[in-house]
Amino acid sequence: MSVAWLCDFDGTVSPRDIGAAFAKRFSPDGAAARVPELADWFAGRCGHRVVTRAQCAVVRAEREEALAFVRGFTLDPAFAPFAREAMDRGEVVMVVSEGFDFYVRELLEREGLGALPWAANHLRFEADGRVTPEFPFADPACDDCGNCKAGHVRRFQALGHRVLLVGDGGSDRHGALAADGVLARGHLREWCRDTRLPHVPIDDFRDVAAFARRPVTHPSAPSRRAAL
Ligand SMILES: [Mg+2]
Ligand SMILES: [Zn+2]
Repeated sequence: MSVAWLCDFDGTVSPRDIGAAFAKRFSPDGAAARVPELADWFAGRCGHRVVTRAQCAVVRAEREEALAFVRGFTLDPAFAPFAREAMDRGEVVMVVSEGFDFYVRELLEREGLGALPWAANHLRFEADGRVTPEFPFADPACDDCGNCKAGHVRRFQALGHRVLLVGDGGSDRHGALAADGVLARGHLREWCRDTRLPHVPIDDFRDVAAFARRPVTHPSAPSRRAAL
């Protein structure tokens, strides 16, 4: 069965959370980092679409200055080699992001990965400096996420893939619950541990690549799906 790797962007492919840094940098006194919706989301009281809208409401940015800012970030240097190696094995690699398209596209292209499939929320830069989030990949099955990773997981499973989700945060939870395997760092790793969701702990894409090279790529913990 062919493997599909669905990789979170902020905090995973990019070790730093570029979306959070962008919202903080382009809101007055970093107000976007303190919107009450963030705490509500962490506590499970609202979905991430609500957080994104609340943060964007206080952001003022022109497209060019936003692009200049995100160009200051670097991706995990092990990501591009991992992606190329996996694709050489005939596996699928896709970036699934609850962040914004403008920086996912910019940074993947800089790595020479412009042809890699990816999905993210769309940020519209308005003429007056405001920004408006749009959710072109919103999943009818999920009212919480802007770009529900569970929806992408199910789509690849329906195509016959064994789907492994690589992520680090709260917006990966729905995807993690639906995936056939989870490779987790950061908050996602803690959440998997606390909720006893089988997962492979990782620090970066060197760990993912090492795991992917194993003869049979399955989580070391017992699987939740009989099909594995
Ligand atoms: Mg993340
Ligand atoms: Zn969701």
